[in-house]
Parts: sequence; structure tokens; C-alpha cells
Amino acid sequence: MPVPINWRPGQRTLALLVAFLLGAPGQLLSGPSWNGKKCAVVLTYDDALEVHLDRVVPLLDSLGLRATFYIPCGFSDFQKRLHDWRWVARKGHELGNHTMFHPCEGGRAGREWVRPEYDLASYSLGRFADEVAAANAFLEAVDGRKTRTFAYPCGDTLAGGVSVGGVVRRHFLAARGTAARIETLDSVDLYHIGVYLVNGQTGEELVRAVREATGKGGLLVFVFHGVGGGHSINVSAEAHRQLLSYLASQQKEIWIAPLVEVAHFVRERRGMAAGPVAR
Ligand SMILES: [Zn+2]
Repeated sequence: MPVPINWRPGQRTLALLVAFLLGAPGQLLSGPSWNGKKCAVVLTYDDALEVHLDRVVPLLDSLGLRATFYIPCGFSDFQKRLHDWRWVARKGHELGNHTMFHPCEGGRAGREWVRPEYDLASYSLGRFADEVAAANAFLEAVDGRKTRTFAYPCGDTLAGGVSVGGVVRRHFLAARGTAARIETLDSVDLYHIGVYLVNGQTGEELVRAVREATGKGGLLVFVFHGVGGGHSINVSAEAHRQLLSYLASQQKEIWIAPLVEVAHFVRERRGMAAGPVAR
């Protein structure tokens, strides 16, 4: 139970001054946390779906928002519209690495669709590393960029039972993970960034998540697949539009940027190298 203290005026002023000085370094560091804004929101879209080109990018562009698109470079949907994806990059969106063939661990419930030749459980680490490097070269041929972020296909982090962490750290500024959480600037693990998986939510629910992130001063990373169709993991076009319209109206308080830019910002704040070691 707190003990009531009878401050004399001078003591109280001194105590307040000490409290201010002790608290000041933290306050100055955390200041306006995210690039001068209260919080950060990253919109990510997975698997190079055609609906991203036909529906999502035009909406983002009309609202002045930029996002990250995680591309499995071996997918035919991506390869048949390379010219369009090049334009997406030119408009300031990030083309993130999502490997060549989207290998995931098969052999368990819900993973019946994993083809044996792309079962991550039967990959070697070297094969995974080669695939990631090939996808980086492919993406560089499309967008001309040398730094980008990664998203683990299916969130899996083991190739043949061996952690892919070292490979991912060598090649990328950051990687999107799968844990459901709002990150803080101080605690975010750049190689397992928490997410909000979008699947069937209403526009109100998506906006509520943004409000929560704003209240906490955190980083919120949305993961989209289908938008108004195009994938079994899906959100209605209306809910998606409602979220984006809200974000566009809140840009004074909310920093909305591709993940690569947020990763650069966090690394700079921590005094980390500006880029990964390997190409
Ligand atoms: Zn994927």
C-alpha cells in the first residue's frame, strides 16, 4: 500500500526534477517512435497472386500507400506478368523474397498439398540457400534492388531439420515470422517479426487492430493472401478497402511503409549494419 508523503514544496520540486532526469533518456529515445509517427503498419501480400496486381496495387496507389509483396519467383502467375510486377516495384512497393518454389514441410495434417519435390523436410540447407539466392537474383533482375526482406514459406524455419536462420540473416535485412503479436521498437526480433494473419475478418476488426497498435506505439504487420478471392485464405474486398481507407486517413500518426523500410529504420536505430553480408 502506498505510504502518503507530505512533501515540502522544495522537496517535491527536487523529486520531480530527479524523476524527469531519470526518465528523460528513455523518453528521448522512444520519443515519437516510428519514423516520427506513433506506430508503424506494414501491409504484406503473399504469393504473387494476380488479384494483387489487378485489385490491390491500384487501390494502394490511389491512396498513396506502399506495401510489400512476397514473391515465389518460380510461380507461373508471377512469371507471366513480370512486366506488371516491374511497375509495382517502380511505384515504391517492395518485392520480397518468398523463395523460388515455396517449399514447406509436408507430411502432416493440412499439408497434403505439399509436393514431394518441394517438401522442405527433405531439402538440404545448401539447397534452401541456393533457392533463396536464385530468387534474390531473379528479383534483382526485375526491380534492380539489392536489399529486401524475406517471408518464410508457411512460416517454416527448418530445411531437412536444420535451422535456415543463418542463411536468412546472410541474405536479408529482416524476415517476417508467424507469431501473432504487435511488436515494439525495443523488442522486435528482426528475423521473426510478428504478424496479424488476415483471413475472413471484417473491416472493423482490421481497423481495431490498427487502433490497438497505435495505442501501444507498436509495429503491426498484416499478412494478406486473397483479397476478394484468389486464394483460400481470403478477405473481402470491402473489408480490405475499409482498412486501407482508414490507414490513408491516419498517416499523420501512423507510418505505413514496406517492411524493408521499417527494417532499415530499426537497424539504424540499433546501430546495425545497413545491409546483409551476402548477396
Ligand atoms: Zn506463401
